[in-house]
Amino acid sequence: MDVLTKDLLVNFLLMILPLLFIQIVYFYSYRNRLQKKEGKFAAIFPAISILLCLSFPFTMNEGFLWDLRAVPIVLGTLYGGYRMGIFLTTVALISRAILGGDGVLVSTITLGLIWILYLIFMNQFQRSKVPGKIMIGTLLVSFLVMCNLTLSYLIFDVLMPLDVWVTFTIINIVGLIVALILWEIIRTNFLILNDLIRAEKLSVVSHLAASISHEVRNPLTVSRGFIQMALQDHDEDSKQHYYLNTALKEIDHATDIINDYLTFAKPTSDHQDVIKIKEELNHSVNVIQPLANMNQVDIHLQDQLPDNALLLAEKKQFQQSLINIFKNGIEAMPDGGVLTISISQQTEVYIIHVSDQGYGMSEEEINRLGEPYFSTKEKGTGLGLMVSYSIIKASGGSVKVSSTKNHGTTFEIILPVHKEK
Ligand code: ADP
Ligand code: MG
Repeated sequence: MDVLTKDLLVNFLLMILPLLFIQIVYFYSYRNRLQKKEGKFAAIFPAISILLCLSFPFTMNEGFLWDLRAVPIVLGTLYGGYRMGIFLTTVALISRAILGGDGVLVSTITLGLIWILYLIFMNQFQRSKVPGKIMIGTLLVSFLVMCNLTLSYLIFDVLMPLDVWVTFTIINIVGLIVALILWEIIRTNFLILNDLIRAEKLSVVSHLAASISHEVRNPLTVSRGFIQMALQDHDEDSKQHYYLNTALKEIDHATDIINDYLTFAKPTSDHQDVIKIKEELNHSVNVIQPLANMNQVDIHLQDQLPDNALLLAEKKQFQQSLINIFKNGIEAMPDGGVLTISISQQTEVYIIHVSDQGYGMSEEEINRLGEPYFSTKEKGTGLGLMVSYSIIKASGGSVKVSSTKNHGTTFEIILPVHKEK
């Protein structure tokens, strides 16, 4: 192995090493609820990588240092955003300037030029999946390396042998890919852990809520009974009658809320009933209406079904499955819009269409729908559709999704008609 490769491999190791410590930052910040500061902490590691790379470079010509610092600079910026980019660029420039030599000028120019690429690719990088990220990362690192080599030649007449060019570029690219994959693994592990803990908390909360709602319902029932008895002692148009009647209505209202709440909190049963599909659909729309109002979303409900159209399903679960899909549609339209819900019947099946005018999904995202923990939302759980799909499947139904990026999404839910014998 020639000296170049050996030197660069040492560099490679030094560059990867600090990355492994990022894991510790993630866990530490989680334990101490420092999520917001995480970005600042994480910036330390690429910075350390840069310094280590610079401390053990491969030198061939006086004044020029060849090392892998391009990788932590590019990755750190792409993952961390513009602020992190400014920080890392500054660290790289200052430390490089301290070491001196003609290479300083070249580094300064290239690190400035690459900001054009950051501006072009930053958003796309953060939205991409791993292969896309690798492509963008490779492009940027290759640009930095090529730019450095070319400028050194053009300005200072430093000409490296071809095999050095090739080896140097390849090791940079490999370094980037390895570092990127490591970073992704660490990040995903942490996200999954976070979601698991949240899901666990949710289930505890919902169990508690279920028991509390239950406890509250009993006193309400008793109060209702006594108020009703008191009502009988008063004339219909007396003041007392009016007061008691109002109290009664409010108690009924409270009971309704608790019952609805129980629906979602209660551990669900597997018992299937014959239900009126239209009634359940209307109920689900009513439940989601406040969320729609809050997000300036209009719900257009079109139904062409007789009131007594029947479906075999667990009532509350069925509502839940619809609500999850409505909720996603509303969340996909952060600036408001129209959510169109329609239901119709075709001999053997009901077809429910839920269409939004939101940000839509790519082919790949559609394929991942229903997968647990698949979420593109910052606060998403990625559990909503998994639950919906399994409920719909349990009723013998299926779901089809079609979507156009930035135009909207349509969920088509197909459910078998239940015929009374
Ligand atoms: P969550 O809503 O918690 O993210 P879901 O299982 O409900 O979890 O949805 C999973 C993912 O599917 C969402 O994060 C989103 O990316 C995508 N998705 C679901 N419905 C829509 C929709 N109507 N428009 C765009 N994307 C959607
Ligand atoms: Mg959801």
